[in-house]
Amino acid sequence: MKQFKAESKKLMDMMINSIYTNKDVFLRELISNASDALDKRHFMSLTEPELSADFEIRIEADKQSRTLKITDNGVGMNKEELENSLGTIASSGTLRFREAQENADSLIGRFGVGFYSAFMVAAKVEVVSRSVRETAAYRWTSSGAEGYDIKPCEREQAGTTVTLWLRENDDDCRYSEYLSEYKLRELVKTYSDYIRYPILMEVTKSKKEDGKDGYTEYTETETLNTMTPIWKKPKKSVKKEDYDAFYRSRFHDFHAPVRVINVNIEGNVNYTALLFIPEKLPGNYYSKDYEKGLALYSSGVLIREKCAELLPDWLGFVKGVVDSPDLTLNLSREVLQQDRQLRFIADSVRKKILDDFKKWLKNDREGYEKFFKELGEGIKYGVYENFGERKDELKDLILMYSSTEKKPTLLSEYVARMKDGTECIYYACGESEEKIDALPQLEKLKEEGGEILYCTQRVDEFCLMALNEYGGKKFVNALKSDSDKEEKGENKDKSKELLQSVKKLLNDKVNKVRLSSRMKSHASCITADGEISLEMERVFAASGQPVKADRVLELNPEHALFKKLEKEYENGGDYETVALILYDEAALTSLGEVDDEAAFVMRINSLIK
Ligand code: ADP
Repeated sequence: MKQFKAESKKLMDMMINSIYTNKDVFLRELISNASDALDKRHFMSLTEPELSADFEIRIEADKQSRTLKITDNGVGMNKEELENSLGTIASSGTLRFREAQENADSLIGRFGVGFYSAFMVAAKVEVVSRSVRETAAYRWTSSGAEGYDIKPCEREQAGTTVTLWLRENDDDCRYSEYLSEYKLRELVKTYSDYIRYPILMEVTKSKKEDGKDGYTEYTETETLNTMTPIWKKPKKSVKKEDYDAFYRSRFHDFHAPVRVINVNIEGNVNYTALLFIPEKLPGNYYSKDYEKGLALYSSGVLIREKCAELLPDWLGFVKGVVDSPDLTLNLSREVLQQDRQLRFIADSVRKKILDDFKKWLKNDREGYEKFFKELGEGIKYGVYENFGERKDELKDLILMYSSTEKKPTLLSEYVARMKDGTECIYYACGESEEKIDALPQLEKLKEEGGEILYCTQRVDEFCLMALNEYGGKKFVNALKSDSDKEEKGENKDKSKELLQSVKKLLNDKVNKVRLSSRMKSHASCITADGEISLEMERVFAASGQPVKADRVLELNPEHALFKKLEKEYENGGDYETVALILYDEAALTSLGEVDDEAAFVMRINSLIK
């Protein structure tokens, strides 16, 4: 007997110990393996017609021997393939398995663990397989975690039969249910209806014969699935539950999608697409492992599981399938990349998604806002990607929190609310809406009724900069330095010397010190001159690029603390302490930290005499 590879054994243990609650899915997994095997053989038969066959999947339940058989006439497996495929978790599976050292529920829920799920319901599993390329057949058997055997055997034709010896019923589960015609039919309908090969089963029926009392029973082979892929069915005939079930099983998500988008295009290039917007971003979305893409079919045959070319990066969260009769089946990856039709489809898919978002926004604002809160970051990335190539398509889909509305607003709504004479759209960046709201730099602007967009995601400012303007109104960072107002005011000359002394005292902590009229209750704040804002400085620093903003200490000449500064300065008193307090207060509110907390506190205390 051979040993399973370590990770397979671990997974197998999880299956056998049945921590997974929904055992039903084993059938879906085995049927989908059978369907994949048929796809592979179908694919080969395109160039080798002798490999063609009437492709089918058969389910046989035998109550006497308590066995359930799933048979396909697909590619089959030779000895090495049996060994490699069933003795270890497929390499992709292994990788995913390592990532998800969690419980089995979420493991299967998200990835599907395929073949091993058979052990959730079976005490013993046998796989008899013959490869289309060989005449020899092999029997793989295993009763669980101890290991498996592979022996030569006979099989008349190429294909695979998986036989499950169902476990004894226990408190947990009536395994014998999986032998019931009714249950099997229901499982196929729920999970595998769209499989494009017939799933056949002998079923018992009864009929009333003429002239006889009662009914007579007879058996008949029935195709359990409709075989129409769900995306080919007329929209009206598909219920929301059907789409949800398809999405969950096809894309391994626990949550139902928040939006389903149907696309049916007839024209130069024809295609059907069924697209889903997930409720949440997958955990690895921003990591290198995340593979975006849509499943690509040609007339119902899967050509590529994840065709990345069909989605821009910023729509990488969209899941779904695209099916086009116009694509040639044996497209290799390289050819696909250049394929003109494919590019056409990608372009059209992107537009359809954005059109749908517009409709969504219009008809279900609340739903759209929820979606945007979860996944809107992607759209904002889209604005500035490729030098703002798509910004016009996206600018009306962006929501940002408004200081006056106290909720997310569209740019068009902001502009519609603008008072006559206002020339720009204000924004301010910070960690959270609350923190931005408390910034001294915004005091006056807010009091005057100015509306400010609060940018709390890293991408926000880049997005607005890429847009540059909306409806002819430029975006202006409300936290930028107040240089316009500085030069005016009669205080200027009087304070010039004082400001220079403060600058000298603070040395390279700030590049400039100036008076400003933007504050009311606060005495000081720090802003930035020029292109680099304080927020950008933070974003760049986080990505390891030290870019320095041109820091300006702004002082409120109306504030008592500033008046004290002036008085001390004029009287030759300790104006330095007051200046340092003004700086520290500004650092605390604008940068979120002071250099030396204890010194700051001591200075404050020294004021109270
Ligand atoms: P996955 O399907 O995710 O690759 P599985 O554990 O379900 O993982 O199956 C492992 C491998 O075993 C498959 O990739 C396939 O190569 C092979 N296999 C499973 N079932 C069949 C089958 N019915 N016919 C041919 N090959 C199969």
